[in-house]
Amino acid sequence: MRKPIIIANWKMYKTKAEAQEFCHQLKTLTNGNIPETAICAPYTLLDTLRESLADTDILLGAQNFYPQEEGAFTGEISVKMLKDVGVQLVLIGHSERRMLFGEDDELIQRKLLWAYEHQLQPVLCLGETLAQREQNISETVCLAQFAHAVDNLSNEQIGRLIVAYEPIWAIGSGKTATAADAQAMIGAIRTFVKERYDHTAAMTMRVLYGGSVKPENIAELLAQQDIDGALVGGASLAAESFAQLLKGAIT
Ligand code: PEP
Repeated sequence: MRKPIIIANWKMYKTKAEAQEFCHQLKTLTNGNIPETAICAPYTLLDTLRESLADTDILLGAQNFYPQEEGAFTGEISVKMLKDVGVQLVLIGHSERRMLFGEDDELIQRKLLWAYEHQLQPVLCLGETLAQREQNISETVCLAQFAHAVDNLSNEQIGRLIVAYEPIWAIGSGKTATAADAQAMIGAIRTFVKERYDHTAAMTMRVLYGGSVKPENIAELLAQQDIDGALVGGASLAAESFAQLLKGAIT
């Protein structure tokens, strides 16, 4: 019923030439045989990627925006600017933005509503730190982040949301949560939506796992009942590994 989606997060990597070469190789390696896929790229690559991916179904994503129409916000970018270059979805609340750039739950809540109001598909990222995991408060932390973020959304908007559960200790560390652990948390998020908001929203909302996803573990993760895809950093940077990962994600 829910269609799996694989989302690449390129973070602060790649020049235009590198992005073009990646697209060329990915197309050759996959021959269009891919699950629903998106690439969230740095701003400088968005226009190039729009051109390079025009003959594919790959969605174009951004990694951030500022929730204002326009104005004196030096260094920021608006949804209108992103949509102008063809962006279809956007990451919100990635742990690197929360931890390195001080994004708090209140800003994330505003961004989520803003993305919906401006017809941009949001991908809400959340997850616990290693210290929180060791204190056995992972679920409390993740559900609190979720509840805060969706506070102003309708049930219908929650149902269209893409959530990425990314335990912070697993991002870029090579340590993947076990498929069972990822399923347990993602199942808990879905149950929370069912009980607190709406049954239909819980059944349609897609929840992805992120954190050292690789070609070797994608199939096992996707085999879990509540895991609807993956947010992929490191393994999305080389066309070979991303193509292999996409192949493993075809269900
Ligand atoms: C990420 O950037 O969201 C991520 C999950 O990175 P990695 O796959 O490298 O852990």
